[in-house]
Formats: sequence, C-alpha cells, structure tokens
Amino acid sequence: MADVLPFDQRDGSLWFDGHLVPWKQANIHVLTHGLHYGSCVFEGERMYNGRIYKLEEHTQRLFDSARLMGMTIPYTPAEIEKASYKATESLGSPDAYVRPVVWRGSEMMAVAAQHSKIHVAIAAWAWPSMFDPAEKLKGIRLDISTWRRPAPDTAPTQAKAAGLYMICTLSKHAAEAKGYADAMMFDYRGYVAEATGANIFFVKDGKLVTPIADCFLNGITRKSVIELAKARQIPVEEKRIEASELPGFEECFLAGTGAEVTPVSEIGSYKYKPARITETLMNDYADDVRRPVSVVKLAKAG
Ligand code: PMP
Repeated sequence: MADVLPFDQRDGSLWFDGHLVPWKQANIHVLTHGLHYGSCVFEGERMYNGRIYKLEEHTQRLFDSARLMGMTIPYTPAEIEKASYKATESLGSPDAYVRPVVWRGSEMMAVAAQHSKIHVAIAAWAWPSMFDPAEKLKGIRLDISTWRRPAPDTAPTQAKAAGLYMICTLSKHAAEAKGYADAMMFDYRGYVAEATGANIFFVKDGKLVTPIADCFLNGITRKSVIELAKARQIPVEEKRIEASELPGFEECFLAGTGAEVTPVSEIGSYKYKPARITETLMNDYADDVRRPVSVVKLAKAG
C-alpha cells in the first residue's frame, strides 16, 4: 500500500461548506462531533462519461440518511447535485468516484450536539472499475464475517451512516488477513445480509435471489440490477435466505456503486461458478451506467 498517495495529500480542489477549497487545506478540528460520536453520513457515487450515475437517488439518500441521524443539511438537493459536479472539475477526467460527506462540527463536545454546525464536503477521485470482463468473471472470494448486521431498533440501519461501518471494517480486515477479498455478513436473525460495502445476489434454477433489505441499505445498484434482470425476463425473488441455503446456489455476485457487479466464486467453503446470469447482468449494468443522457431522459419520459 506504500505507493498509494494518501488521501489528504492529493492535488486539486474539493467542495467544502459551499466553496471549492484546495484539497490539502480541507481540514477539520480534532474535536469534531462526527469523529468522536459518529454523527456522520455519506454517499458513494460514480461518474461515467461525465455523468454521475443516479445522482438524484444518491442525493436523496444523503438527505434521508442525514434526517435519520437528526441532521438538517443546510443546502437544497439541487445545490448538492451541482456541487457534486463542481467537485469533479479539478480531476479533469470524465470518470470518477464522488464522495459527499455530512457531519456535525465542533460547537458542542458531548453526546448531545443539537447546536453543532452541520458541515458538508464533496470530494472526487479516480477509482477505475475492473474493465477486463474475463478477469472479473473469475470471481472474488468472500470470508464469512463473525459480525452481524444490527436490528433496525439497534441502529439507524437505513442510513448510510459512518458508525454502521465499524463492523464492516473489522470484517474486511479479518477477511483480508485470511486472504479473502471481502466478507459476507449475516444479520441479527442469522439470515444472509450483504457484504461489507455492497449488496449480494444469488442465482438458482435461472432465478435471481437476494435478501430483503430490511436491516441494511437497499442499494441503488441493487435496485438497478433488479430492474435490469426484469427487463431480461429473469425472475427475481427477494426473500429471507438461511445459511443452510448457501450450498444450493449456483452463481453469486455483489452489487454496489464501488463494486458495480462483481462475481463471487467462493463464500467460506461454498463454491460458485459465475455464469450466464451474472455475466449478463454485469454487462447490462456496465452498459446502463454509460448510457447517453438523452436515452436516459427519453426512457424516463416514456
Ligand atoms: N451495503 C453497504 C454496506 C454499502 O456500503 C453499499 C455501498 N453504498 C451498498 C450496500 C450498496 O449501495 P449502492 O448500490 O447504493 O452503492
């Protein structure tokens, strides 16, 4: 990892509380509520060919996440959408990963923080997707995490909130230490939930099966994949998936903005063979994110 340029040492500028600021000067104080108490929500978006895919949906989720955390974003969704594009300008590339983040500031320093300022920053950086479909189709290997997704009355599980990633980082570190690429997590009831930063899909008998998103993010990519499958007349079932069903699935893949559609070849001791349905949806998603805007608008209007 030594050759990766640290994220606070990059050139260019990012959007911070209403203005573009030099990247290296976008700092916050150590006594920040978001850092100490996890009052922080964020988004992960990808720009393809100069268009941020499903930007409206991501911006809406940012506002919903903030509301679930009791925070009011001091901008309109339209201002945040415009700022998301502004943040990509200094990159000089039509493809980028875009990260809006919202957090409570330093005005109060205890659990209660009603009068802390709500800050917003948006940064963009290069994060190429894996282009070689043949390479990608080999699939990644997933560990099975010992951490479980919490119940909706234990944490604001529908918010893309920083605190919910504690167990994801722990799971991912444990997985990588064992040579896996990522980890699959069960939920508090013992049903299959998702990976550490993406939703999960399985294929059995020509049908797509995915867990009901009732205690984790109903991802924007998850919804796109379901639509793409339906457009291909591939049946989709959202259901509670027991651990005992894992050996019976044929294909498996992850779906998320960062992961896009990533085939999975193993979960713990279970083996999967990325095949027709995974490949079809991987390619359909790759086409969808780069579909020209005019076509997207026409499809919406129609
Ligand atoms: N679950 C988790 C934990 C995630 O971090 C993500 C990525 N945001 C997802 C699911 C997928 O969400 P999306 O498709 O909206 O990126």
